[in-house]
Amino acid sequence: MHQLIAGNWKMNGLRDPGLALARAIAAADVDCDLVVFPPATLLAAVAEICVGTRVAVGGQDCSPFGMGPRTGDVAAAQLADAGAGWVLLGHSERRADHAETNAVVHAKVVAAVVAGLRPIVCVGEHLDDRDAGRQDDVVAAQLAGSLPEGFAGVVGYEPVWAIGTGRVAELDQIAAMHAHIRNCVGPGVRIVYGGSVTAANAAAILGLREVGGALVGGASLRAESFLAVAAATLPPASARG
Ligand code: PEP
Repeated sequence: MHQLIAGNWKMNGLRDPGLALARAIAAADVDCDLVVFPPATLLAAVAEICVGTRVAVGGQDCSPFGMGPRTGDVAAAQLADAGAGWVLLGHSERRADHAETNAVVHAKVVAAVVAGLRPIVCVGEHLDDRDAGRQDDVVAAQLAGSLPEGFAGVVGYEPVWAIGTGRVAELDQIAAMHAHIRNCVGPGVRIVYGGSVTAANAAAILGLREVGGALVGGASLRAESFLAVAAATLPPASARG
């Protein structure tokens, strides 16, 4: 399996620069799985640019409910209809800004899977959890509460203190948490790391056992830095000697 590099554009990107970024990423020659999560306003146009390329497209959130009277929300089926194949769920910014509980994330994962979307479900501890040594318990509880039985999508391990801060987790912290998550979810779930991943640190992180890729925020907003992270991926295990 190839490693997965996912770009979370968050609430960034107007039409012209956003579509130019999508075109540059779609034109790249890379040897990994790529998915970009543009803002909802650009999703359909970015998906059109990426048709027939190696780049998949996803929504940054979806409603736990089907289509209907939910002003401002987007149903998973609408994301799929706009060309999305993926959806990002439970990102710490949504857990914080929209008070999303594990139960809400769980309902969104179910809705996404029903609509045929592949979810990346984000988990990760706050700094005070890590300082108190309870990061494993916090992440295990998030996994238990957020993932439905038989979950076969992607888990994004994103320590909250490393997101957008420039403070990447230590390699041994990443390795230990990925091993812990593997124990919790079993085989068949890809686990990616997120938190201040850049071209400079990507190779070391992507070389760790159980790291199946990276979820990239800030560095995904420029094609050059995003593609440099993609260039740091390992070849599939079957192709490694
Ligand atoms: C993210 O928001 O998912 C993220 C990992 O952001 P950054 O790379 O900017 O830390």
